[in-house]
Amino acid sequence: MIEPINLIDEEKRLEFLKKLQILETPIEERFERITRIVCQALDVPIAAISLIDSERQWFKSIQGLDVTETSRKVSFCGHTILQEGPLVVPDALKDERFSDNPLVTSDPKIRFYAGCPLTLGDNFRIGSLCAIDQAPREMTDDQIVLLSDLAAMVQSELNNIALTEAHHSLVNDLKEAERAALIDPLTRLWNRAGGKKLLEREWDYAIRRGIPLSVAMVDIDHFKQINDSFGHCIGDQVLQKVSEVLLGSLRTFDVVCRWGGDECLIILPGCERQDLFQALERLMSAVQNLKMKTDIGALTTTVSIGASTISPKFDTDIASFIKVVDMAMYEAKEQGRNQFKVDSKSNYYELAI
Ligand code: GH3
Ligand code: MG
Repeated sequence: MIEPINLIDEEKRLEFLKKLQILETPIEERFERITRIVCQALDVPIAAISLIDSERQWFKSIQGLDVTETSRKVSFCGHTILQEGPLVVPDALKDERFSDNPLVTSDPKIRFYAGCPLTLGDNFRIGSLCAIDQAPREMTDDQIVLLSDLAAMVQSELNNIALTEAHHSLVNDLKEAERAALIDPLTRLWNRAGGKKLLEREWDYAIRRGIPLSVAMVDIDHFKQINDSFGHCIGDQVLQKVSEVLLGSLRTFDVVCRWGGDECLIILPGCERQDLFQALERLMSAVQNLKMKTDIGALTTTVSIGASTISPKFDTDIASFIKVVDMAMYEAKEQGRNQFKVDSKSNYYELAI
């Protein structure tokens, strides 16, 4: 095995990568979408956006594998960033750089690899968009062009900040390790503590700027039965899939947080009460249309949702507001599940006093 060397501009490259404030942040649909396309278009089981940190590669998005990072020493992408163009390894067992690499000789048993460097700023190659297969294969010129085009899309997304001002300030104010502690390892979304911090920021921002803010609590229906019938592992996959689908059916600035168990809290900054209904309809039908593949066939599920909106004239606090959202969710459960409830009028006006 040959370990990837450091680039000549390594120090400045790392400085640039850190300044992007992207390491140890939750998954984002704009990146998930691209790795999903790589899997579909190139018919590979694994695709990733890998960012090369000093000692590790950290995945902003990864399909087909449940890992968030690996050591830089064994990374294929560490080699990709050493060159300007794409790196294609048709058969890792026949390549001296990788033939005895542990990622090749044991799980995930990589045989085919194709990666395009992600170049940003002053020509800094900070990572790569890659496609991986467990069988050797060739890549056509058209497929290389496609992967390069998608890598260019990742680059422009990395140059954009697709977060609200409040969300961006939270990410900036937290150190990498602090962010890592606020991310749920299963879904890679903000966990409850992270969600609370974000909600506090969005709340203050909404009140100060006089803009609305909506919040929804989503709970999977009869989730215990899924665990009991198919096992905890399938239960975990359902949690991952449902959170992915929720994320995919929201606007760029909306945020899904794992509140705990089978509950997600969704923060919709700037979302008026009348727009909330549309958003909830979209969430409900996205989950209903989800068919999760398992060994025993396709699995479907539903969710119950409670939601509410604050407007600037509101005189309430976050805890009371969350209580109203929770109550609406329980109402949806009581009334038969697979539906949403927006706070009843009485609650709405009670809080407005
Ligand atoms: P309801 O329709 O009333 O929501 O019924 P439910 O069965 O979904 O009940 P509830 O929401 O109370 O159940 C949550 C379950 O989620 C209980 C717990 O065993 C399971 N759970 C919590 N965390 C995890 C996890 O990380 N993975 C898996 N597989 N299960 C989890
Ligand atoms: Mg539930």
